[in-house]
Amino acid sequence: MKKLVVTIDGPAGSGKSTTARFVAARLGYTYLDTGAMYRAMTVKALRNGIDPGNEHLLAEMARRTDITVETHPDGTRVFTDGEDVTDRLRGADVTRASSPVSAVKAVRERMVELQRRVGAAGGIVAEGRDMGSVVFPDADVKVYLEAGLGCRAERRKKELEAAGMPVDLDRVRNDIRARDVFDSSREHSPLVVPEGAVVIDTTDLTIEEQVTGVLDEVRKKTGART
Ligand code: C5P
Repeated sequence: MKKLVVTIDGPAGSGKSTTARFVAARLGYTYLDTGAMYRAMTVKALRNGIDPGNEHLLAEMARRTDITVETHPDGTRVFTDGEDVTDRLRGADVTRASSPVSAVKAVRERMVELQRRVGAAGGIVAEGRDMGSVVFPDADVKVYLEAGLGCRAERRKKELEAAGMPVDLDRVRNDIRARDVFDSSREHSPLVVPEGAVVIDTTDLTIEEQVTGVLDEVRKKTGART
């Protein structure tokens, strides 16, 4: 059977990562976490002391940087120029700087190139902000997940706590709101509902229901049982 390209877009905390990971596992597809790729680029920028607002230096750095992603049963590992930076990706400094770094055109061009390479053969569930709109506009199945701000903040807080990074709920909510505004209003590849995407509000859904919702769309496309 033809291996499909499935895209899942949406704002922070909408359930993209968890849903994409489970859907990919169910289909036997590759899971591509593109937020982690932008975060890995951000780690390098911060390490090199590059201001997240310095477009020129970020562009130069991006052209010379190789980001690779490995999917393992216990999660995704991300490498910057061969170095495993996975454990740095969720730091508050990286989260905050990731939006301005991702807004730089040359950074996005580099990422799109790397992401299309991973998706070239199909059999991929790619999640991010511009998967269905820019990176894979001809994707077989496009989904956009959304959820209320309060619910997204609660989810992110739980995730961070589970990773041993206790945080204040108000702070998480403010950070998410700021990233929403930034990601949706930037000039290059802003967060939008891609043309042809099915919108699923996950506020009151369990993870299993979210996964089933996406698999239903895949099933409609293939006519097969998944
Ligand atoms: O999804 P995650 O929170 O890990 O993404 C971190 C940041 O990376 C987002 O706030 C967004 O600015 C950027 N991003 C993007 N395009 C993507 C994925 C993430 O601009 N496809």
